[in-house]
Amino acid sequence: MIMPNNLGRQYSLHAEEYKKKACEVLDSGWYILGKEVAAFEEEWAAYVGAKYCVGLASGLDALWISFRLLNIGPGDEVIVCANAYIACVMGITMNGATPVFVEPDRYDNIDADKIEASITPRTKAILAVHLYGQACDMTKIMALARQYRLKVVEDCAQSHGNHWQGQTVGTFGDIGCFSFYPSKGCGAFGDAGAIVTDSEELAKQFRIFRNYGSEKRYHNKMVGSNSRLDELQAGLLRVKLRHLEDFNRERCRIAERYSREITNPLVRKPEIRPGADSTWHQYVVHVPGRRDALMQYLQEREIGTLIHYPIPPHLSEAYAYLGHRAGDFPIAEQYAAEVLSLPMYNGMTEEEQQTVIDAVNGFEVLR
Ligand SMILES: *Cc1c(COP(=O)(O)O)cnc(C)c1O
Repeated sequence: MIMPNNLGRQYSLHAEEYKKKACEVLDSGWYILGKEVAAFEEEWAAYVGAKYCVGLASGLDALWISFRLLNIGPGDEVIVCANAYIACVMGITMNGATPVFVEPDRYDNIDADKIEASITPRTKAILAVHLYGQACDMTKIMALARQYRLKVVEDCAQSHGNHWQGQTVGTFGDIGCFSFYPSKGCGAFGDAGAIVTDSEELAKQFRIFRNYGSEKRYHNKMVGSNSRLDELQAGLLRVKLRHLEDFNRERCRIAERYSREITNPLVRKPEIRPGADSTWHQYVVHVPGRRDALMQYLQEREIGTLIHYPIPPHLSEAYAYLGHRAGDFPIAEQYAAEVLSLPMYNGMTEEEQQTVIDAVNGFEVLR
């Protein structure tokens, strides 16, 4: 069986390093917000090229706390792509703000040319989601943000270390949000997240907010939350970070091979926007009309695939209250019906890659 993702493979490449670090942290006697967290924050900020990084408990926390600290709430609108992950939208709505959906383009990211038509006097921010590991067109997004004085939050949960025109994503907007959920590029061994920013004031606010709004113990400046990164995850993330560039390069090689060797005309392969690069968090193909059949065909050949995502947020039950209907965002709806993520993970063998390629090429092709 080839799994869609296989975290054990990546772990086994450097198992001894993780075990050593885990024991070191356990032996230290200090488990929340300590020197591992401080060191990871410094190293992650340096890796991304931002001035500050603040470790948090999850990617969703990074998102909703960002909008909270930017004072975006009831009555405000935030622009987000209509094919986003549901967490992106929850980051907006948890503060009472309204998501305004914009269709994706052929690169599966927000169509920056369609953003302007969705801006209203209530628009406060754009959430740029770098989906599947590929950068959005940050040049156009930042130009609109300047023109309309909007905040920009980047969701880099699936894009650890990729670039738009040579600059690392997460450093274009006001805040870059990261999830270190185990399946993400730099994945932890549990839940973890972080933000990066160049604003000293915002970084300080995040540090206070994540710890019940207190800068000094039992002196609470604001109503905050508990969103602390723990020492174990931070220590393990420091080990992961040492190998992240290698992991990204390895997934790139797998993606390049898929793109070279998959030749089935029923399958549209992912394209990279000129100026962007991808860390290939997912290798997402479009299979118009035949997606479910291909998924089933691969399953019968013991190849597991996933759909990111089968229901666009505007049609999700959770967002029925927004009042959208099927047909409101036809491109996002079409994508939800035709996307399929092929197996992609570090430590995937050449034979496994070959098996996937042969199976995809063998699907319904008349000979
Ligand atoms: C994973 C993910 C999140 C949420 O991160 P968690 O750590 O699971 O809370 C948000 N946005 C995107 C695009 C993601 O892929």
